[in-house]
Amino acid sequence: MQPISVYRQQKSRPPGKQLVAAAATFCAVVALLLLLPGEQAEAKRTAIPLPLDITPTEVERFNPAVEAISPSDHWQEAKVRSGDSLSIIFQRQGLSASDVHELLTGTELTRPLTRLRPGQELAFHIEGGKLLGLKIKKSEMTTLLYERAPDGFQVSELNREPEVRTRVTSATISSSLYKAAEDADMPERLIMELANIFGGVMDFVYDVRAGDHFIVLYEELYLDGERYKAGKILAAEYVNRGRSYQAYRYTDSLGKTGYYALNGESMQKAFLRAPLEFSRISSPFNPKRLHPVFKTVRPHRGIDYAAPRGTPVYAAGDGRVLEAGYTRANGNYVVVQHGSQYITKYLHLDRKAVRKGERVDQRQIIGWVGATGYATGPHLHYEFLLNGVHRDPRTIVEKLPKAKKITATEMSQYRNTIHGMHLQLSTYAVQAGYRSPTNSSIDAG
Ligand SMILES: [Zn+2]
Repeated sequence: MQPISVYRQQKSRPPGKQLVAAAATFCAVVALLLLLPGEQAEAKRTAIPLPLDITPTEVERFNPAVEAISPSDHWQEAKVRSGDSLSIIFQRQGLSASDVHELLTGTELTRPLTRLRPGQELAFHIEGGKLLGLKIKKSEMTTLLYERAPDGFQVSELNREPEVRTRVTSATISSSLYKAAEDADMPERLIMELANIFGGVMDFVYDVRAGDHFIVLYEELYLDGERYKAGKILAAEYVNRGRSYQAYRYTDSLGKTGYYALNGESMQKAFLRAPLEFSRISSPFNPKRLHPVFKTVRPHRGIDYAAPRGTPVYAAGDGRVLEAGYTRANGNYVVVQHGSQYITKYLHLDRKAVRKGERVDQRQIIGWVGATGYATGPHLHYEFLLNGVHRDPRTIVEKLPKAKKITATEMSQYRNTIHGMHLQLSTYAVQAGYRSPTNSSIDAG
């Protein structure tokens, strides 16, 4: 096994998204100025990094509008300390007990005022010793605003829109998918999503090889110019042993969102290639793992997936639970019928999550990996039957039901939608050295 270092490259602002990004930035700036306490807004106005693709002139053109709707800087920020009550906080602001009383009796919504948490951010608007407004930050996204009104205090909720940026990242697999994604600074949820997207075409336990690589184009949500959390995967490519699989997020004319290959075929296949959650499974390149339990090669009607106890086991496809039981040999096991032709079996489960007769959806958890029955260690024994005959699900792909495809009438719409993303993936692949410029076209995986 040759050591392969992980390749990393990041671009927070790929070409083709510039207008969107500029617009998003502008909106975010306006949103920030609207929602933040005045003084903070002052600070933030300079703190927000200018996106590279907005020229100073454009910013200047935006600014007058921003000034016009920006609140004046009469907000004083405060933070709840441990042991604080509203009275103590008010005292620190030079307000009296009667101000507390006035606020509490002047509003219906007292709960946020009486249930303040240490560290929670507040802002006061005080004029002439009189409380005119109070802001309570509920979450990164939501702030409550209490404003003095003729008959008490009026409450409104200020919601912020995160700025959406797209990011491209990539990694080459050296030990495991999970490790590679970690090196690519991808959050765990995104790794799982990536694996889910390609779960119909790839077995991430047995197919993944050192030297495989992936490129992911995804959204990141920013607040105050700082990364807040990851959003959706927009497009991704996984190159497995030299073969490229690409997936593009697309919402069809019926409003249904899914991932599709370049040729319009859905990435969601009738069956998962590996019916378990595999992001945590390590060292997938050890050939011995093919038979982790029975060390000798023997007639074996299923596939064994060695995995940590408690790893979720998924229904490989939509179906109905035919059996969910226990035998001395199988341990806890589940059998699922898919249509009239297919049956899948899952043995040695630590626990079952379904009952006989229950309908299950693909990727629904039906149990957890264990070592019940004849098993020397935790693993999932998985069997796949076509018309009552055991088959290797990894080699009979062509006998599996065809995946749904984007309709012919919608195909041009689809191509238009994904064109930019396709270009981004291709450009990135060349820049990252995954593909030569002359060979930048991609098979419709
Ligand atoms: Zn087995």
